[in-house]
Amino acid sequence: MSTGRLTIDLDAIAANWRALDALSAATVETAATVKADAYGLGIGPVARTLAKAGARSFFVAVAEEGAALRQALGPGPAILVYSGHMPGDTDMIADLGLIPMLNSIDQMTRQFEALPGAPFGIQLDTGMNRLGMEPAEWAAVRDIAMRQGPQLIQSHLACADEPDHAMNRRQLDAFHGLTDGLGVPRSLAATGGLLLDPGYHFEITRPGIGLYGGLPFDKAAPVVRLALPVVQTRELEPGETVGYGNTWQAEAPARIATVSAGYADGLLRAMSNTAALYSGDTACPLVGRVSMDLITVDITHLEGAPKSLDILSGLQTVDDVAAAAGTIGYEILTSLGPRYHRRYSGTGA
Ligand SMILES: *Cc1c(COP(=O)(O)O)cnc(C)c1O
Repeated sequence: MSTGRLTIDLDAIAANWRALDALSAATVETAATVKADAYGLGIGPVARTLAKAGARSFFVAVAEEGAALRQALGPGPAILVYSGHMPGDTDMIADLGLIPMLNSIDQMTRQFEALPGAPFGIQLDTGMNRLGMEPAEWAAVRDIAMRQGPQLIQSHLACADEPDHAMNRRQLDAFHGLTDGLGVPRSLAATGGLLLDPGYHFEITRPGIGLYGGLPFDKAAPVVRLALPVVQTRELEPGETVGYGNTWQAEAPARIATVSAGYADGLLRAMSNTAALYSGDTACPLVGRVSMDLITVDITHLEGAPKSLDILSGLQTVDDVAAAAGTIGYEILTSLGPRYHRRYSGTGA
């Protein structure tokens, strides 16, 4: 096999959901955010695993993502849509039984005219300025919305991965101001908010990244292992260079492995000359530029030639690789390419 093998540990995903669920009171429902194909890990197996672990509500970004999710879950679980009710979504929302989280007065009008009596939720902006109604808009339509009986009112924290950031408290206070006394279930916390104090939990939390082994949930069990096959190895004389642009030069005799995966597979070019791969528990530096389908790795210090090298494992998490590329674990996960052979381990599904 010449493409990388991506192993997704479903038991670890279930364990991470349970660990996050245990951080809030028993009365708080822990939902799951499974947008973007469950952060690139495969919405079907991941959602079935989470449902089996106990999740009853699932959040996606757009209505289109609801189709595969409804097929995976069957009719019971709630599927909520962050982008709300967009033009053209009405049939999908009705046929798949989705719950749009309405973001604007336009979306509210569309929902109440096209699907009167159908379930919906409301999103409010508390300062992130990305999704949700502004406080003034909410004041204008709150009574109309409340008469239609929203299932959930939510907002989203901009700085929850920085526990001491003053923005967290400001958004919490704003959310209370906009929603106290309405008697509707509320949600403010994704992974970061769940890790703040219980004051941020309300009735439903909706973690994503923590389920998949990423920061800010630093106690997460690692979920992905990515093993990449070695295509060939070669010996270099001192002074020889490796890869496009000659960005790495051997100072001493070196042995270089050429490994099958590149930026077309989500190994960001920004990690050129900075990431490492692992042979067992021995780190081997990625040397030279990442190219489209290949990377080059210094294996001078290894005995013999490995058949494959790991770039993601318990030894090097998505956040470690992200740091090497100047990004975040979320982007590493959602960039994992379609050429990898995906394999699921564990009994979660
Ligand atoms: C993506 C997203 C989440 C999940 O966030 P994580 O940081 O992955 O836990 C929750 N709510 C909204 C509105 C989102 O866009």
